[in-house]
Amino acid sequence: MPEHRYDPRAIERKWQAVWEREQTWHVSNDEATDLPKSYVLEMLPYPSGEPHMGHLKNYAVGDAVAHFHRRTGRRVLHPIGYDAFGLPAENHAIRSGEHPRDSTAQSIAQFQRQFREWGVSFDWSREFATSEPRVYRWTQWLFLRFLERGLAYRKEAAVNWCPVDATVLANEQVIDGRCERCGSPVEARQLEQWFFRITDYADRLLDDLATVDWPDHVVSMQRNWIGRSEGAEVTFSCEELGTEYPVFTTRPDTLFGATFFVMAPEHPDVLRLAAGTEHEQAVREYVNSVLTEDGAERGATEREKTGVPLGRTVVNPVNGERIPMWVADYVLMEYGTGAIMAVPAHDERDFAFATKFGMEIRRVIEGGEHLPYTGDGPIVNSDPRFDGMQNREALDAIVSWLDGDGRGHRSTNYRLRDWLLSRQRYWGCPIPIVHCGECGLVPVPDDQLPVLLPDVLDYKPKGRSPLATAEEWVNTSCPRCGKPALRETDTMDTFVDSSWYFLRYCDAGNDEAPWDPEVLARWAPVDQYIGGIEHAILHLMYARFFVKALADMGHLNMQEPFNALFTQGMITRDGAKMSKSKGNVISPTPYVERYGADTARCYILFIGPPDQDADWSDSGVEGVHRFLGRLWRLGAGLAEHGAPAPIDATVNGAAGDDLELLRKAHWAIDKVTGDMNGRFAFNTAIAAVMELVNECYARRDSAGEASLRFATATAASLIFPFAPHAGADVFELLTGTRVWDEPWPEADPALLERDEVEIALQINGKLRDRMPASSSADRAQLETLARARPRVQAHIDGKDVVKVIVVPAKLVNFVVR
Ligand SMILES: [Zn+2]
Ligand SMILES: [Zn+2]
Repeated sequence: MPEHRYDPRAIERKWQAVWEREQTWHVSNDEATDLPKSYVLEMLPYPSGEPHMGHLKNYAVGDAVAHFHRRTGRRVLHPIGYDAFGLPAENHAIRSGEHPRDSTAQSIAQFQRQFREWGVSFDWSREFATSEPRVYRWTQWLFLRFLERGLAYRKEAAVNWCPVDATVLANEQVIDGRCERCGSPVEARQLEQWFFRITDYADRLLDDLATVDWPDHVVSMQRNWIGRSEGAEVTFSCEELGTEYPVFTTRPDTLFGATFFVMAPEHPDVLRLAAGTEHEQAVREYVNSVLTEDGAERGATEREKTGVPLGRTVVNPVNGERIPMWVADYVLMEYGTGAIMAVPAHDERDFAFATKFGMEIRRVIEGGEHLPYTGDGPIVNSDPRFDGMQNREALDAIVSWLDGDGRGHRSTNYRLRDWLLSRQRYWGCPIPIVHCGECGLVPVPDDQLPVLLPDVLDYKPKGRSPLATAEEWVNTSCPRCGKPALRETDTMDTFVDSSWYFLRYCDAGNDEAPWDPEVLARWAPVDQYIGGIEHAILHLMYARFFVKALADMGHLNMQEPFNALFTQGMITRDGAKMSKSKGNVISPTPYVERYGADTARCYILFIGPPDQDADWSDSGVEGVHRFLGRLWRLGAGLAEHGAPAPIDATVNGAAGDDLELLRKAHWAIDKVTGDMNGRFAFNTAIAAVMELVNECYARRDSAGEASLRFATATAASLIFPFAPHAGADVFELLTGTRVWDEPWPEADPALLERDEVEIALQINGKLRDRMPASSSADRAQLETLARARPRVQAHIDGKDVVKVIVVPAKLVNFVVR
């Protein structure tokens, strides 16, 4: 018999052609079916350059889930698209010296080719890029609905400005004072910007986290980002300037202990307050130094405190005391109102500041040996009406008392800020607004959408939007009064596109609306979402906001976009994160070319639990490749011995090696099924199939043809979600049928039990004999069997058996006297 050669290239091309020709993974929106639906979705890629190993892992995970769901009786929607607008694509274009339109198209073509070469089971009929006019038309349409609803608005705001990327960054894109993309220090600027009013949804975004099946750490990241805290807003006033400064505090019970007042350096009133005082120059210098520093760890408790006095005082509304005003960088503009009352006796950071600058420290709560004391206790040194009360009670009493004459009120504070969506960049969805001298901001009417992104040759960022240079495009007429007017030149943050793309897949061909709500309801929400942890805050928060807002507008009927979420770990090399700058990025391509896509896919899932980071190793790839080769050769060898036939799983009368092989196959079915159901333990699932293949080889000469065929076909069937080409090929060689049309195999419980076990026989706890017995034998059967053993009889004859202890499948112990 000639040795069969495993030729992944030929096998993979063969099956990819079948799937392409027959549109195997296409699902229609109209098909009547009783099957439950399953919407399996991997986060869509940014087409900036070539796919890397992280992509391979993401789609290998998603495809395994999609195949498993199909074969366990679900109708699966598994679409793909490209997050083609935005900074990643534009920056890639700048690096490669091409127009983003061209570099994005090339990158998309590479993704398409590789997705096909990897054999990912996408429904290609729904594919789109968010940069296509037929898609962004609806992004603009949705923006206008948010505008009508008051959920999109414009205001002047201090923005985070990246001088290198020449664009505004969302707060979330600023990491330790630096641009998330290029690492340059971020500057502050004032600009008119478009915002989404996501803060209106803060409570629902927080509360509904209880309704999703997401990893705990992602839920807590979302929670912290929303940052809801309960407390009071209390107004302090600066009498010299006649200005009022509300502060948010979670500790109104300590108001009588406030001995100074601190503002954030970014607070718009800081320079005005200091003007004309002896501190004016020092304040100006301090603010400048803070705004240009990199901002790392600002606000951290252990950091050395800095600050300067403003030369003004504010009145504490609870006791009329005038307390000094300071500016200090431990107060953040993003939190609360950008100003705080400082209570050094009961707050660690205030205490550190007061100690350094010699401020008064006044205890107002009893307890603790040392200050600062942040625990509970009775109120002291406050007002007779509160002194002696427990501080938690006093907290309510003080707020109610302040509320009586408008000096304060109960309040909830959120860390979440409104979503700044304006970008002064070229490669994004144009904001469909016209600025008219007469009418102000005028929305472009729906029937004039899309506002096409003009061709701009010099698209590079310059501080104002490159669209401003497209004069023919910018100069338009007002849709309302017809007079000359100018188009909005900002484009939308690319997170707007990814906040609704998963809805569009459900009805991707619709030209009348972004989707038909009835069609949408057949697929949405996403049942299993898969992607990187780096999107755990922004993308997921924004998509949740979109869905809630659109539900309120009546465009869809659900509250959460993603029922279940899986976040995969990174692929590292030699323990280091892969990055273009380190030059240690591994492309999947050479591995796919050398070993085949099945090997690359299987290996990336085999290296470790897919939610953990895993280190890529070339020798590990070889091992997986050998395993797939062994499986394929086993199948090809068996196929030579007989025509394909349905697999025979009957075990009547099977014994010896045949029975052992069948048992191993059922054990593998049970193991892989358990690993697929929820836990995503693909690494141990693949290991179980490897064990089964080893067992086939070990019993190849002693077991019968039928049981070998069954075990091998089962291995092919179980490996199919991870190595779809080899799985389909071996299964077809043996059975003549297509594995994806077959239901997922079920383990026979009878075969899962090792029928015979060894039972220890004890007399008064001492081992006297062992006997074989069925693992399912009950207590009475075991006792009867044990009593029949000569050695047991020898020990109990003539004695009084006071008790028999039976542990099924383990032991029988006679207690005798
Ligand atoms: Zn930057
Ligand atoms: Zn007008």
